Amino acid sequence: MLNRLNGDKRLKEVKLDNHGLPSEAALEARMRPGGFSRAGFLGPNEKLREVTAADAETLRNLNLTYADIASRLDALIAAAEASPAHQARLGPLECEVRVHQGFQICPWAPDPHQAQCSAGQGVRHGSVDWRVTNLTTGEEMKGPGLIVHLIRDHHFFEGPLSPNRVDPFQLAHLLGFF
Ligand SMILES: [Zn+2]
Repeated sequence: MLNRLNGDKRLKEVKLDNHGLPSEAALEARMRPGGFSRAGFLGPNEKLREVTAADAETLRNLNLTYADIASRLDALIAAAEASPAHQARLGPLECEVRVHQGFQICPWAPDPHQAQCSAGQGVRHGSVDWRVTNLTTGEEMKGPGLIVHLIRDHHFFEGPLSPNRVDPFQLAHLLGFF
């Protein structure tokens, strides 16, 4: 899941829009399997716009904001990162992180070879994978640390066909929002 950006010409020729951000087509190219990550942020034919629209609907129905979900997950991952054993417990939620040597680059980064994305509150937890268990319900989910930034600042949970998808409905239930 770590990035291998060097030597991939496609990623160096990305067009930026008027705001200096990658165009939707460029973003989707970065998100395909073998783009910014081997597994991909989107399946081969998924559309970013459709994926984010469906997830927005899910959050509306749950009456939750992106920040609500991201900040609860953020707190769990941060607590686990700060612990020598790389695990922490907050109430009924137990979080364990695995630390990697490299770090994931956000697909929205304007110049991914030079700098990490600075949208919103910026990338956090880009070097870890996490697993959260709800000890009350027995539910468990895992995902990349980068998802906190993707959810909070880009409203993106990855595509349903990506192995790194963190489904918003399941995540909200795991974290005890309903
Ligand atoms: Zn970003």
